[in-house]
Amino acid sequence: MKKHNFSAGPCVLPQEVFQKASQAILNFNNMDLSIIEISHRDKNFVAVMEKAQTLALELLGLEGKGYKALFLQGGASMQFLMAAYNLLETKAVYADTGTWAAKAVKEAKLFGEVDVIASSKDKNYNYIPKGYSIPEDADYFHCTSNNTIFGTQYKEFPQTSVPVVCDMSSDIFSRELDFSKFSVIYAGAQKNMGPAGTTLVVVKEDVLGKVTRAIPSMLSYKNHIDKESMFNTPPVFAVYTSMLTLEWLQNLGGIAAIEKINNQKAALLYSEIDRNPLFKGFAAVEDRSNMNATFNLVDESHKEVFDKLWKEANINGINGHRSVGGYRASMYNALPLESVEVLVDTMKKFESTI
Ligand SMILES: *Cc1c(COP(=O)(O)O)cnc(C)c1O
Repeated sequence: MKKHNFSAGPCVLPQEVFQKASQAILNFNNMDLSIIEISHRDKNFVAVMEKAQTLALELLGLEGKGYKALFLQGGASMQFLMAAYNLLETKAVYADTGTWAAKAVKEAKLFGEVDVIASSKDKNYNYIPKGYSIPEDADYFHCTSNNTIFGTQYKEFPQTSVPVVCDMSSDIFSRELDFSKFSVIYAGAQKNMGPAGTTLVVVKEDVLGKVTRAIPSMLSYKNHIDKESMFNTPPVFAVYTSMLTLEWLQNLGGIAAIEKINNQKAALLYSEIDRNPLFKGFAAVEDRSNMNATFNLVDESHKEVFDKLWKEANINGINGHRSVGGYRASMYNALPLESVEVLVDTMKKFESTI
């Protein structure tokens, strides 16, 4: 029996995607060849790359709006520096809402002045800062839409006229947003889209060409756009599997449809965290994430009992990150509602055991 996989990343993908992806390893498109042994210039793979790019833009509602979708390597962590390399001429402003945001700040400082204009570090990142203003002379504003480790998520983004760069690694394709408010969106595939090994980068072309520094080819958005994401050998299997997940999402009805299910899953789990006297939530209620729910035991001495129960229930991956402790249940797009029901039942069973 398949486990209920709440892993924060790499994470659960749709079962049909696992099946199609494994079939393509053995025999891709009835070519009698594996997808990982053919040229990336073969028309069969070029079609995969084009489909993945088109689906990404379509699902985000960005086709025909001046955006390009790239599938790059180096993870979201590479984008921490690549965004700054390509966009930071004088000064950029950042919101520091967690470990990943702080790493993005650190890398950007190599390229120019970086002002952290909002931070929730004072409370171990358990909330999203609000009510700050973004200076109009900044080259861009950088934010992290969902803080995977701490379980917080922007419900509204600050208004600004400067370009917005957003790390959406752990909530891309999970909820409807006006994506045209962002100039650069990036997301490592392994949280909501595919296996580790590729990162989706969506770039609005009009933000490029404004920095004076020379940019190495592999780090240049423009170069990757000009070469249609095929400047060098792309991570073919990761791109193919991501394409399958995007296809699955489109067939399901797109982001609007998955958002409804994600809301249901999150509401179910949070209502149990709030109701059950043995648990307390970590993140501020108004900012809590629909993707990663963080919670702790009220009495740590019960840990062994709860851990035994969820393991017996075939649950995987709910240990919290070391900087928060306790538990983190990640409820990405492909996690079935049934898995959340099993977790909630286990929390209730724990209550009746204690
Ligand atoms: C996981 C994660 C990252 C790091 O992604 P890599 O692909 O491992 O570099 C960055 N930002 C956020 C929000 C994440 O959840």
